[in-house]
Amino acid sequence: MTDDGNKTAGQATQKQDWHAVNHEDLERRLSTGSAGLAETEAARRLAEYGFNRLAPPKRQGPLLRFVLQFHNILLYVMLGAALITALLGHWVDTAVLFGAVLINAIIGFIQEGKAEAALDSIRSLLSAHATVLRDGVRREIDAAELVPGDIVLLASGDRVPADLRLIEVKDLKVEEATLTGESMPASKTTDAVDLDASLGDRHGMAYSGTLVVYGQARGIVVATAGDTELGRINQMLSSIRNLSTPLLRQVDRFGRMLALVILAFCALTFLLGTGLRGLPAADMFMMVVALAASAIPEGLPALMTVTLALGVQRMARRNAIIRRLPAVETLGSVTVICSDKTGTLTRNEMTVQRVVCADQIFDVDGVGYAPQGNVSIAESVVDPAQYSVLNLAVRAGVLCNDGRLRQIDGQWHIEGDPTEGALLALGGKLGLTQDESNAAWPRQDSIPFESEHRFMATLHKDTEAQPWIFVKGAPERILDMCSQQLGHEGNQPLDADYWRRMATDIAARGWRLLAFACKQDAPSGKGLDFTDVESGYSMLALVGIIDPPREEAIQAVAECHRAGIQVKMITGDHAETAKAIGALLDIGVGKPAITGAELALMDDAALRRIVMEVDIFARASPEQKLRLVQALQEDGQVVAMTGDGVNDAPALKRADVGVAMGLKGTEVAKEASDMVLADDNFATIASAVREGRAVYDNLKKFILFMLPTNGGESLIVLTAILFGLTLPLTPVQVLWINMVTAGALGLALAFEPAERGIMQRRPRPPGEALLSGFFVWRVCLISVLMATGALGLFLWELEHGASLETARTMAVNAVVAAEMFYLINSRYILGSVLNREGLLGNRYVLLAIAACACLQVIYTYLPVMHDIFGSVGLTPEQWLKVLGAGLLVFVGAELEKRLIRNTRFASAAQR
Ligand code: ATP
Repeated sequence: MTDDGNKTAGQATQKQDWHAVNHEDLERRLSTGSAGLAETEAARRLAEYGFNRLAPPKRQGPLLRFVLQFHNILLYVMLGAALITALLGHWVDTAVLFGAVLINAIIGFIQEGKAEAALDSIRSLLSAHATVLRDGVRREIDAAELVPGDIVLLASGDRVPADLRLIEVKDLKVEEATLTGESMPASKTTDAVDLDASLGDRHGMAYSGTLVVYGQARGIVVATAGDTELGRINQMLSSIRNLSTPLLRQVDRFGRMLALVILAFCALTFLLGTGLRGLPAADMFMMVVALAASAIPEGLPALMTVTLALGVQRMARRNAIIRRLPAVETLGSVTVICSDKTGTLTRNEMTVQRVVCADQIFDVDGVGYAPQGNVSIAESVVDPAQYSVLNLAVRAGVLCNDGRLRQIDGQWHIEGDPTEGALLALGGKLGLTQDESNAAWPRQDSIPFESEHRFMATLHKDTEAQPWIFVKGAPERILDMCSQQLGHEGNQPLDADYWRRMATDIAARGWRLLAFACKQDAPSGKGLDFTDVESGYSMLALVGIIDPPREEAIQAVAECHRAGIQVKMITGDHAETAKAIGALLDIGVGKPAITGAELALMDDAALRRIVMEVDIFARASPEQKLRLVQALQEDGQVVAMTGDGVNDAPALKRADVGVAMGLKGTEVAKEASDMVLADDNFATIASAVREGRAVYDNLKKFILFMLPTNGGESLIVLTAILFGLTLPLTPVQVLWINMVTAGALGLALAFEPAERGIMQRRPRPPGEALLSGFFVWRVCLISVLMATGALGLFLWELEHGASLETARTMAVNAVVAAEMFYLINSRYILGSVLNREGLLGNRYVLLAIAACACLQVIYTYLPVMHDIFGSVGLTPEQWLKVLGAGLLVFVGAELEKRLIRNTRFASAAQR
């Protein structure tokens, strides 16, 4: 390309008149042609224009992010208390209070940063691809590598990867709501429009970020990245919206309520202390401040977010990419998973095993997509060239095909649909290569395969320029179009019974079915349309394609069953195929399978009645998926539904967890989903459910740890005030405990891995309140145990002649020790931690305990601490007593778990 050319392209992209430019001007200004750009030129333009990526949305600066950590009612109360103590001149208390707030803000700040980074890395996993023509060859590239002048091929389901001027369209409909707000899809043409036409009227353009919901097209990239219309309005298509979920909001509300209750409670204590007991108001006030500080779970908001974000990250590592955070929680309560079959439950590595023609049945061997293998009849190898009908059928499979086989490092790979890959490999076995066939019989037009109509048709000219139309698709569909069949003596009347029998026989083996037919005729209009494929065909052959189930899917289905989750297979495939594969996966065994046709005859009430009794829905259309989700939800189920096509979007949106396929899924499906499977694998859904349950568990564990520890501290002080005892903890000591333990200890629980038996429980009922009766009980029990240990020790020591300072130092250490022990208890809500894994399995727990222990040694022995907090050194014997008080909580908690495990409350508590 000349320098001039560069300039033209460069300047051209600055102007916004592309919608008004005609085809020739377009190619000239962008210096491109029908073969697309050369790779070298594309690389040069990439260096000039940069990557086709939108700048991420503006982030809050670190300072603002830090300041926002304080924006929480719990911390406001703490800061208010700090201010008042400062006014009263209690500087140490002010410093400790402020220290606690600061520590929490810092933890929150760092963890939130990590959480955002985790979500960012997940965002990049969702980057889109684009199909381009470069050097005349079709290629899949990362959409970020598109440059002005590239020719992009669009198909239904794609997200438009850059601003395109359309040069070829076939029934193209694009949903442009992101740009125009118009939710009805816009029909596109290749026509230029007036220069001042509004965005919605520029029919010859497809804009970046919009979604192709129907048809196909070819367009030239006219603007990328920030130059696109989307870039101009600077709207990042966000994959994960914000760090909030219903559960987090529930906890937030709870936090606010708790703050109010604590304040009211403190006021009451103040009145009781001063009025009833006649304690000095200033002392009482300091005590109440300390009480409030210790009761408020100030670490709660930050830690909840972290737990959730860590869960999302863990899921991403296992190929489940969460697009909407609430899905993490919902996953934990899923009761039914509706899964596609092909590629999700099966391997999607297809190989043709059998070709049935009117007169012969051919078996084909060879594995994978390698074009090597023998053809045999009744177990004796034959020369396929002798069989003209077989050859024509296989040619139909090669021509009526949008896939492409490539050999990379000696291995054959398919670009496109694996079903079509199997047909190309079959062609190779008969010596019919794709390039030669296409050159000899050039394609004139096509109707692409869509799950709704279940066939594909192509129009070709043969070597004598005669028109041929080939169709391939689901046998029922193709048989309906045929009136004849081709045998070696030419056309004969169709023997539909023969084909149906053969189809059932192939399907019963669990093989996928495809039929081929042809007619030697020209289309009625200029190109192929649906009227051309209605009738008049000759049936050529039936093909049986093997697609074995995934090994890991078999295990995952069994795991789901153990976890009380029903697995349903919803497939476009033949009922017999689905049943045979279902039997291998243990889905729908001993139950009837229902077809889409039968489903169509049922009204919603009838469907609701049978929906839980049937596990296999075959030949189901995407619209029926939506009906199934609705029926299941009306039955009270929490449904995860997989999908990949454009028409799956409504069902994905409606499902409680919409799961899109990352590899074969369209952008439209991904957009509608809550979670994307990077590997299209059913086993990934099961592991996401497992992680979802673990996240929910960890949130519960964290709350179950935090509330009793706060409760215990408050109870000690309160009891002393109420019973007129010497205060076992001074205000500043309460604040110290709070500073050392709040947040830092509990944070370790966010790293807790899933419990071993997590997939052996029933799903959690949806909408179940987090803070159940069991929670209240556990909080009370631990608070009482903690208070008993510390207070008892304190009183015992005083009684036996210890100094007040010593007794208080022991009380402080006893509370902290109890919290450290209880942290270990909290690793499992009901399970025993009295084993190696339970005691040592989470190194963050051990680290947190070690850190706390160091701080307590400093507190006890450092002279400056003696001055500030009134602490004193302890003897080994005294330390043993401190540990004993701590152990009281540990043993008490384990005993309680044991008792509960043995009662009928276990399952309710476990959830
Ligand atoms: P699932 O919904 O479980 O992924 P599926 O992939 O079999 O199942 P579809 O892709 O809708 O569902 O296919 C339905 C039927 O359409 C297949 O059984 C097959 O007969 C036919 N078919 C599949 N792919 C093609 C294709 N590329 N061209 C023509 N017909 C096809």
